[in-house]
Amino acid sequence: MVTKDLNHNWINGEKIVTKQVIDVTNPATKEIIGKTPSVTEEDVKLAIKAASDAFDSWSTTVPSERAVHLDDWANNILENKDSLARILSEEQGKPLHESAGEIEGCAQFIKWYAEEGKRIYGEIIPPSNSNQRISVIKQPIGVCGLITPWNFPGAMIARKVAPALAAGCTIITKPASETPRIAIALFDELMKTDLPIGVANLVTGKASMISNVLFSDDRVKKISFTGSTQIGKMLMAQSADQVKKLSLELGGNAPIIIFPDSDLDAAADAIVGNKFENCGQMCNGINLIYAHASIKEDLVERIVSRVKALNVGEWSENDIHIGPLINDSSIQNVEQLVEDAVQKGAKVLVGGNRLSNKASDLFYEPTVLDNVTDNMDLVDTEIFGPVAPILSFESEDDVINRSNQSPYGLAAYFFSNDINRIHRVSERLEVGMVGVNSTQLSVPQAPFGGIKESGMGREGGHYGLDGFLEIKYISLTLND
Ligand code: NAP
Repeated sequence: MVTKDLNHNWINGEKIVTKQVIDVTNPATKEIIGKTPSVTEEDVKLAIKAASDAFDSWSTTVPSERAVHLDDWANNILENKDSLARILSEEQGKPLHESAGEIEGCAQFIKWYAEEGKRIYGEIIPPSNSNQRISVIKQPIGVCGLITPWNFPGAMIARKVAPALAAGCTIITKPASETPRIAIALFDELMKTDLPIGVANLVTGKASMISNVLFSDDRVKKISFTGSTQIGKMLMAQSADQVKKLSLELGGNAPIIIFPDSDLDAAADAIVGNKFENCGQMCNGINLIYAHASIKEDLVERIVSRVKALNVGEWSENDIHIGPLINDSSIQNVEQLVEDAVQKGAKVLVGGNRLSNKASDLFYEPTVLDNVTDNMDLVDTEIFGPVAPILSFESEDDVINRSNQSPYGLAAYFFSNDINRIHRVSERLEVGMVGVNSTQLSVPQAPFGGIKESGMGREGGHYGLDGFLEIKYISLTLND
């Protein structure tokens, strides 16, 4: 069983509690479900010292030994997957089956990196002179700060902690204040693997303070951040001072384009599955649905009938598809975007309101908006809620140009059965990830991440390890 006592942090191999605490609430009821530490500057510095002291030994531990800890961690997670899924749903609000999938995904990620850590290969390069030998080795970057968001609070821990530890780095992790309990529970499982003291530290509390301490300390060599583009830009400016290495997984504005030669039932399934997962709070979630004018009516009919069948409720209820939004500002943002769209001529086909018959006021009806046009705010703003805006297009060139207008470049999806179009459109879309005839993207072995204002660096695959490694070129000159 996972302990319910999730009121601690981990610093230098010890559980610590603090006088100052943060309340954690269940968004489905707005009830307080726990209190987690709010650390001081001193606590963060202790965590940095612990990680720094542990680095020499952990970085020179052979990858197969590091893999044992990661494998054990994944197995512990799988053994406790039901209670971990409950902890996640209770503070985040997503339906229990989604949390269960996320927890299983954590274990898959960790196991994959346990293996991939054994394949951090260097390179031998042919020299220019016969007595020279050129080799390239990869070494762990050092102490890393890992900052994660609330929308996938389990997955984001696994996706950063596993490659960092596999690469030989030591870490200080700071989870989002809305969802610290699942991070603590996952760390509890990690610590049960007898990880050497100080290798992995977890602190919760005031984000700006923790981040400032991490950025200003030159023992911290890298920050890996997932969250909003707004905070990501601030961190990028902050990193300049010490030229601190930075990975940024930021916001998105994913379009899905449905060409006339598509399988419309499959497209409607994919749209509704992706758009309403996690109540629409996904960085790679569909923000805009571009339907070719010739099939728009047929597609809309299919989307609307599927959306009408979605059930909204608390994570613990049966047959629930959609939970609450995370907090007041999120639901207000959704309301404003829908209001703006309606004022400018969008037509509400389903939903369009907060639900008033729930235990909290954070539930919003799954919503479909038709007649959406490029002048509406939601076209270039991350909606992060259960709202599906439908736009019409006439030509391939037109829809690609409109999609590429976005400052974001995380993901894009399209449906087509024309092989020439599939290659052409995949290559022209300005994003880090393209889903063709499906919206499934996140698997351990593939590079997840964006371009433009969606960030830099990748998580997943061998690319995910690169973010925690430095390369070193060694030139050896032989005597004879
Ligand atoms: P956020 O407000 O930027 O917060 C993310 C993390 O940053 C949290 O831990 C937060 O801590 C921390 N933070 C807040 N202010 C900070 C500061 N001044 N300095 C350093 N850290 C700070 O984002 P969010 O609302 O939690 O997450 C949603 C966003 O994440 C969306 O834009 C979404 O698209 C993006 N996202 C991107 C990906 C991807 O892979 N590209 C994946 C998931 C989510 P507190 O909670 O304590 O404030």
